Amino acid sequence: MARLKHLAILGCTGSVGQSALAVVDQHTDKLGIVGLAAGSNVDRFSSQIVKYEPAVVSLGSRDALVELKRKGLPESIVAGCGDEGLIDVVTHPSVDLVLCASSGVTALSAVLAAIQAGKTIALANKEVLVMAGGLVMDLARRHSVSIIPVDSEHNAIHQCIDHRLPEEISQVTLTASGGPFREWTAERLETVTPMDALRHPTWSMGPKITVDSATLMNKGLEVIEAQWLFDMPPNKIDVVIHPQSVVHSLVELRDGSVIAQLGVTDMKLPIQYAFSYPDRWETTLPSLSLTQCGTLTFHEPNYERFPCLRLAYQAIRSGFGYPVVLNAANEVAVEAFLSERLPFRAIPAVIEDTLDAAVSNFVKSVDSLEEIRKL
Ligand code: MG
Repeated sequence: MARLKHLAILGCTGSVGQSALAVVDQHTDKLGIVGLAAGSNVDRFSSQIVKYEPAVVSLGSRDALVELKRKGLPESIVAGCGDEGLIDVVTHPSVDLVLCASSGVTALSAVLAAIQAGKTIALANKEVLVMAGGLVMDLARRHSVSIIPVDSEHNAIHQCIDHRLPEEISQVTLTASGGPFREWTAERLETVTPMDALRHPTWSMGPKITVDSATLMNKGLEVIEAQWLFDMPPNKIDVVIHPQSVVHSLVELRDGSVIAQLGVTDMKLPIQYAFSYPDRWETTLPSLSLTQCGTLTFHEPNYERFPCLRLAYQAIRSGFGYPVVLNAANEVAVEAFLSERLPFRAIPAVIEDTLDAAVSNFVKSVDSLEEIRKL
């Protein structure tokens, strides 16, 4: 029997983190938990610690850590918080693979530390690559560390590329469900509420990413992610709307062959692939039934009704700093929308204004972001 693969999971109480632990539950003969880290959900974290008995844990803040200790924490467990705590979790000598499933950029320094320590990275977080793709990929190359994408589209592309040489790849195509407002007219889009936006047709995810998939910004961030992961220029990365989410993405080879990855819409599939890579393990997920899928449709994204995708391509073409501005402006705008301080249709407008401000003066963009924060 193969040796246990020892994991550290960052963001273990979130949606992807919980799916990852469900994968661990199905493969206890192959996977073990060494480190767990969460933000502020102390109740869930505490029960996960009891179940998985990790060696090292970390929480987002000192307050959360104090609360965890108050609930009772075995003395044998090393417990920390913040950046330092996360770094202790990922660099523990027993850890083989780090799943980064926390949201935002909180895990960036931990991911860099894990790469330097030679740990394999399974990456479910977009922001790490959007904000610091060049840095992360360069460091991974220098330390011969694999970055295995968990985001379903990039995971599909990773499977399709399957060690082929970069010059053999002529195009990658990311599929997008199109979000819940795919069929809505511009007028109807004026009326979107946070409740409407949080109802995703095919995937169940956290609120930020669900709004991002409704505006198509999620796909824009994924284009940036793909650019770094696969070292592809933006003109070789295409997006098609595929509402059924059965084809998770496609790769066209230079001889004209197109390789696609299909599967059920469950994050446990890409998570297990990342954990088992380069092997393939049994799954308890249902088989994909093509006849039950019915008709699969594909069409071009509507850049007029969903300008966020256009803005993302624009940011990538403008160069390194612009995707960072795009991401920050989007985070602020989505937060404002979710707290009902900004209408849905204003999200792209805020991002466009911020990018424009950055065009005239990069430093000024920081001021305008501060302005947006005051909305
Ligand atoms: Mg995705």
